[in-house]
Amino acid sequence: MKELIYANFKMNKTFSETKDYLKELDALLVDEPQKICLFLPYTSLYLSKLYKGEKFLFGAQNMFEEESGGYTGEISAPMLADLKVKTVMLGHSDRKKFGETNLQINKKIKTALRYGFEIVLCVGETRAQRNSGKTKIAIEKELGEILFGIYENELKNITIAYEPVWAVGTGKIADSKTISEAVKFIRSTINRLYSETAGKEIKIVYGGSITPQTAREIYKNKNINGVLVGGTSLNAVEFAKLIKA
Ligand code: PEP
Repeated sequence: MKELIYANFKMNKTFSETKDYLKELDALLVDEPQKICLFLPYTSLYLSKLYKGEKFLFGAQNMFEEESGGYTGEISAPMLADLKVKTVMLGHSDRKKFGETNLQINKKIKTALRYGFEIVLCVGETRAQRNSGKTKIAIEKELGEILFGIYENELKNITIAYEPVWAVGTGKIADSKTISEAVKFIRSTINRLYSETAGKEIKIVYGGSITPQTAREIYKNKNINGVLVGGTSLNAVEFAKLIKA
């Protein structure tokens, strides 16, 4: 499905470059009803307060679990809420490279929920886990630990992004069968952790090296609610093609 489209800019584009980009993308998408949520670097999130249109939403790429204090360099939920940011991405594999743990992501989710944010939660196996046949064990462990203490009625604020670590930023997209099996497994895990209804209703998107050429195949899968796009989203022309695919 093409219900949810997210873009992750990672550490790219200045505030000025992002403003120019938005003008360009907006013009390319004049007849496109699809809303798009862009996860921007913090320095560009003031756009969330400035933007008066309806096409774009702006999200944060991360957020700290505490609300204030001696956490130099971190960004809090009240800071984001004050900028009218409504969505936060948590648990991205880039963050895990800096040592972010499942326990910390769990705390971040609880804080984000208290502030009423929509959350995009990234999960996915590493190349080593896939090669050793441990994909399911890895995803199940991740979901179990990250969602610990989260109530079923809170899942409506959480979208899961299936992002196999080996496909993110590598140019190696997972094939349709791999994506489809993993998404089914995520639904069945939510089913086990919560209920059949929760497993059916949870929103799941795929992320990892998607291009305009590969997007359409993903939209065709009714079990997948949309996409999370990194590298391709940085070029407005290519991203517009991907959105319209
Ligand atoms: C991402 O950063 O979440 C992502 C999916 O990146 P890319 O599309 O570049 O693999």
